[in-house]
Amino acid sequence: MKKITLRTGKERSLVKRHPWVFESSVARGGGDSGETVRVESADGAFLCWAAFSPQSQIRLRAWSFDEAERIDAAFFQRRIAQALAMRARLAVASDAVRLIHGEADGLPGLIVDRYVDTLVAQFTSAGVERWKGVIADALLAATGLTRLYERSDAQAREWEGLPVQTGWLRGEGETAITIREHDWRLTLDVAQGHKTGYYLDQRDSRRRFADAVKQYGCQTVLNCFSYTGGFSVAALAGGAGQVVSVDSSGPALERAKAHVALNGFDAARHEAWDADVNATLRRCLAEGRRFDAIVLDPPKFAPTAAHAERAARAYKDINRLAFMLLNDGGLLYTFSCSGGIAPDLFHKIVAGAGLDAGVDGYIVERLSAAADHPQTVRFPEGDYLKGLGILRR
Ligand code: SAH
Repeated sequence: MKKITLRTGKERSLVKRHPWVFESSVARGGGDSGETVRVESADGAFLCWAAFSPQSQIRLRAWSFDEAERIDAAFFQRRIAQALAMRARLAVASDAVRLIHGEADGLPGLIVDRYVDTLVAQFTSAGVERWKGVIADALLAATGLTRLYERSDAQAREWEGLPVQTGWLRGEGETAITIREHDWRLTLDVAQGHKTGYYLDQRDSRRRFADAVKQYGCQTVLNCFSYTGGFSVAALAGGAGQVVSVDSSGPALERAKAHVALNGFDAARHEAWDADVNATLRRCLAEGRRFDAIVLDPPKFAPTAAHAERAARAYKDINRLAFMLLNDGGLLYTFSCSGGIAPDLFHKIVAGAGLDAGVDGYIVERLSAAADHPQTVRFPEGDYLKGLGILRR
């Protein structure tokens, strides 16, 4: 077993059971890509078993802090069983569920979503890449399913020096799938959709949005960064009369239109605008359009904390415009999925946007990822998705 020795004092995060060690903390030692290594402090004390990433800034990701634990097939079977047991205790209102959520499930770099009878996995660290075959077999054995599609095309692969890999890892067949979410039906393609096919993390917020649209009597809704129209279907279900989906992806908007029909809503109640959100918000303002509810669910503007400042300006700008486009008493559902923007910073950004717009609002909802995308106490980076529901005063 290869040994890695950390610099003096650099064991601090591991002692707190945080699973990452950065390149600059390593004094001596190395390994092959994804190889299991023994990590020791400068004075030779055992810290953890970890996967070595020769190319990543995150040089080590801890598998286990238990010196007696072996990192073998049984280890992965145990971690997967634990993750599935946690999901089994949740009342997820869908047949599409995140089964493995990386660090939070003790499997750094592994994402697994189940869409009805199909598993979709992203292997984004050298460690899980090395154990891919073992993990794939363990996932199928634990779920009793036979199909596993690989979507290892996330940007994080690049930082690990791993090539893009997509396609069936186990089983084969149709990649188009229809899921049920709450009372709605939604379609996706695991080969072509964003991430693993759909944004499951917003499931609970889509439900709350439907309820809020109903409760506050919102008639006109602007769904920005709509992707395939999940929040648009929610708005229609909540009784909105007129809903606009805005996205820069044509195929996503085609699916949004199909979702309106699939869920039995009149196509006349929905418009799909293939456009840039920023330009659209400015155009609506210039044209004097106003809405009773606006959703802002942008992509990750700040992949890491280093991008936070520029991202903060971008978030502030769209939120300022949205505040100005809301009717009095209107509802803003605004999100950030940037790990580099902490919830309190996001709150400050939205506050600044309101100030610039000359608008105040009541915070009526604090939103986060659905519970099958768990956060753990030891891994604050897991708190990536945050949102606020705000009623304009
Ligand atoms: N709200 C969606 C998920 C949104 S993901 C849901 O509930 O499923 C972010 C979306 O923003 C993606 O669909 C992407 O195509 C779109 N997007 C990214 N930049 C954009 C831009 N500048 N203008 C419009 N859409 C954009």
